[in-house]
Amino acid sequence: MNDTFSVKLPGGETWTPAFVSSLDEEKCIGCGRCFRVCSRGVLQLVGVSEDGALIPLDDDDEEEYQKRVMTIAHPLLCIGCTACAKICPKKCYRHAPAQI
Ligand code: SF4
Ligand code: SF4
Repeated sequence: MNDTFSVKLPGGETWTPAFVSSLDEEKCIGCGRCFRVCSRGVLQLVGVSEDGALIPLDDDDEEEYQKRVMTIAHPLLCIGCTACAKICPKKCYRHAPAQI
């Protein structure tokens, strides 16, 4: 049986990090709030082309994408703080504890 990864804090409390597991790109409005609060470089804003492909953002090619969405570019850098979920106005995020 797996256990949930948790940390004993200096004050004696136990903290269970909840790591980012998915982001609903349909609900995302590309506001960038989550990007600004993530201290770990996990997230990346990209463009969505007319045929649904994700494309890197470039100031020169704004006409090439229909909308902007956030993506989880580097999930292994996540420390499970859930700051992204707390600030997201569209409730795009799902998080889960790690199993050990
Ligand atoms: S949980 Fe924290 S570290 Fe992980 S993506 Fe969200 S803000 Fe970044
Ligand atoms: S805060 Fe939410 S709506 Fe805004 S870019 Fe991040 S995931 Fe998308």
